[in-house]
Amino acid sequence: MKRSVALLLVLLVVASAQSQKIERTIAVTIDDLPVVSTRKDLRNRQEITQKLLRHIRSEHIPAIGFVNENKLYSGDKRDEAQIDLLRMWLDAGLELGNHTYWHWSLNTIGLKDYEDDLLKGETITKELMAANGRKLRYFRHPFLQTGRTMEIKAAFNDFLGDHGYTIAPITFDNADYIFSSAYDKSFDRGDRDLMKRVGEAYVPYMESKLDYWERQSKKLFGREVSQTLLIHANFINSDYLDDLTRMFRRRGYRLVDLDTALKDEAYRLPDTYIGPAGISWLHRWAREKGREAIVPDEPKVPDFVLKASGFESE
Ligand SMILES: [Zn+2]
Repeated sequence: MKRSVALLLVLLVVASAQSQKIERTIAVTIDDLPVVSTRKDLRNRQEITQKLLRHIRSEHIPAIGFVNENKLYSGDKRDEAQIDLLRMWLDAGLELGNHTYWHWSLNTIGLKDYEDDLLKGETITKELMAANGRKLRYFRHPFLQTGRTMEIKAAFNDFLGDHGYTIAPITFDNADYIFSSAYDKSFDRGDRDLMKRVGEAYVPYMESKLDYWERQSKKLFGREVSQTLLIHANFINSDYLDDLTRMFRRRGYRLVDLDTALKDEAYRLPDTYIGPAGISWLHRWAREKGREAIVPDEPKVPDFVLKASGFESE
């Protein structure tokens, strides 16, 4: 009897360890802080920030936000009202990262100019983080464009290392910016009906993308890696981030911070991609293995959303 109880306990422990192992995790990273929207007035930026942070607090999302500091100045003067938007992120206990000053692409400007722009883009964020007893440590490439030659990538990696930065990669790529453009534009035109349709299509689209990245991960690794999501500090997320998060939870995801997600050993694989696009790290790793490693039929933005966005293609 005693032996069978002991055996049962062992089985329970093994089962619970296994169920922990298959738990899905995702880190939420938010780009282009403080806000990216067609409406650039302070009031709108405050409202979008407040709404995003309300969702982040109520859904307990350990998010990180990546800043473009050009938005924190009027002319060449610091604009404290804009900087206050970042203080709100820090007050909510969130981390901030560097996304360069101007949001230029490493694929279109020289490495030295790019590095200078990165350093220019850390001035205020570094100061705010230090006031919170924190160090600025993550860098996100604008457009996810990471350099057209291995020499540039290697030199830039050395630069990042020298300045204490870690690259923030992403697996869960998507076109939230196209949805947001459609959402902004239909709002600007007073077309509430279209705005509602765009909004209602957003989370189902993101779920189809997530399903795709789960399959891509399984194809590549035989398991699901810890996902890293990229979304933007935009209007549509200020309305739908809570619904988006609930979708993740419904699919069995636990929300983790970027540090935790990047502990997944998949992220130790190098990024050797030197093509022109800004693509998911899952696709970078897949391309290393050859075209057949890429899962076909990646979901697309619905036509009506693309049309309303003003973008010609994804
Ligand atoms: Zn960006």
